[in-house]
Amino acid sequence: MLQLRHWSKSHEEGGRGKSSRRRRLEWDCLEERMLLATAGYDYVLNGTRWADPSHITYSVAPDGVLWDHGPSNLNATFNAKFGNGVWQRQIALALATWESVANINIAQVADSALGFGIYGKPQGDPRFGDIRVSGSSFYNRDTPTLAIGYYPPPQGTTEAGDVEVNTTKNFTIGGAGGSYDLYSVLLHETGHALGLDHSLNPKAVMYASYQGVQAGLQPEDIAGIQAIYGARVADPYQAQGLGQGWTSAIDVTAGLGSARQTTVGNVSLATIGATEYFTVIAPNTPGATLQVTAAAGNVSLLSPKLSVFDASGNLLGAAANPSAWSNNVSVNTAQLVPGQRYYITVTGATRDALAVGAYQLQVAFTGGNPPSQVTPPSGTVSPPSGTIIAPPTTGPVSTVGPDRFEPNNTSALATNLGIVVNSVTVGNLTLDTAGDVDTFVLRNGKAGIYRILAGGAAIRVFDRFGNPLASDVGELSIRVFKPRTPLYVQISSATGTGNENYSLIVSAQKGKGAVTPPVKVRRPVLRQGAHRLV
Ligand SMILES: [Zn+2]
Repeated sequence: MLQLRHWSKSHEEGGRGKSSRRRRLEWDCLEERMLLATAGYDYVLNGTRWADPSHITYSVAPDGVLWDHGPSNLNATFNAKFGNGVWQRQIALALATWESVANINIAQVADSALGFGIYGKPQGDPRFGDIRVSGSSFYNRDTPTLAIGYYPPPQGTTEAGDVEVNTTKNFTIGGAGGSYDLYSVLLHETGHALGLDHSLNPKAVMYASYQGVQAGLQPEDIAGIQAIYGARVADPYQAQGLGQGWTSAIDVTAGLGSARQTTVGNVSLATIGATEYFTVIAPNTPGATLQVTAAAGNVSLLSPKLSVFDASGNLLGAAANPSAWSNNVSVNTAQLVPGQRYYITVTGATRDALAVGAYQLQVAFTGGNPPSQVTPPSGTVSPPSGTIIAPPTTGPVSTVGPDRFEPNNTSALATNLGIVVNSVTVGNLTLDTAGDVDTFVLRNGKAGIYRILAGGAAIRVFDRFGNPLASDVGELSIRVFKPRTPLYVQISSATGTGNENYSLIVSAQKGKGAVTPPVKVRRPVLRQGAHRLV
């Protein structure tokens, strides 16, 4: 392999039509570089990349520390010129533009008053971001350089990925009147920081000299960054068709546990305008509050918008901060209805690249107390007579505790599973005592046959008037003629012993099933039948 001595450790961007190279000695393999360019796509890769593309960080260095071309003065210069927060957003947008098309996540972190290029970890150094952005007057030399960018590790020190802006140049937002558009210049430099070399195509963002305002990436820039890290992909839930609408909402109820809280990681908005849907069932503790947080802090550049709805789709609360990025937003919902299903959506707070990125969803129920006694059902809903439930026996010593929906022993306290279009699975359920009855209510999303499974437990289904519709042990099927018919499902021990674990699965069946007349509650037998609901 031919190795050529090449001067290219970092790149400086010239003024209009000009370019120059910062002269630093480095061994580079020109032959390999040429091979990395693909015919038809005018991108060139440097050959370096971030070792952990899912956790790239960046920071803005404070003023006064010694930077590559003099003391840093970016904050003071740009605060005076643009206002605090305005220019920082251009940095975030530039990085987010790359993040929005590649399988990477970039988060902003704090920076410390340490000079450029000190020794440390090439990625994940806790003192500053992997990519540090700063600026200096370049010693007030008359140089055409607008900014420089360093490639990813290995560069020997923490300078890998760092960007330095020449603060003596006439930067604006928009690039009018012969000025330099800050976003366009930062987009180019952060492309270097992620591993892209100069393109030979003058239209490309990665062309070596400033060619005017770039509204975004060109096809060859996108092809280049995807050649390094791959295209941005759907998260594992979306890849299974989950989380993309109300009926496919990701059910986080099973993850709540005894602390009544859960964190869903590894979720991501893959495109601008995407929305991800979640759902959770409130515990049967009157007075509880639901706190939901969409957290992009330390995760990605996403500026999340969070909304919470009740089972009927009424908006209960929303939170967003479109002026922020890499941030967390929370919604608190009090006055929860015990056992009620709630829905949560996460989308971008903006309509630009800051609407894309990974995040975590945190769901927590706080406060509230279980009712001191189980209220008997009221009105027209009457509990079925106990033809199935055996009288309590002394039985074996119970080793399973009450599940998270207790007490849901009656129709009035039924756990609301919402509208089931295709299927719902509720795991980690228990019949902790011989007399424990778990009651659920759901509505079918469409007419047809629904199959209900509950391990080896006794299943009984009632209409909203308390009329029995079907019963069986382990599983049964029921035909429902009208969509959104309330179905009350009672689960009890088939053996009369309690101390059982089970999962409840309700799923719509494809194809036709036999229709039988309405039946009365029967002795439980191990068979599957189809039962008609009028
Ligand atoms: Zn460059």
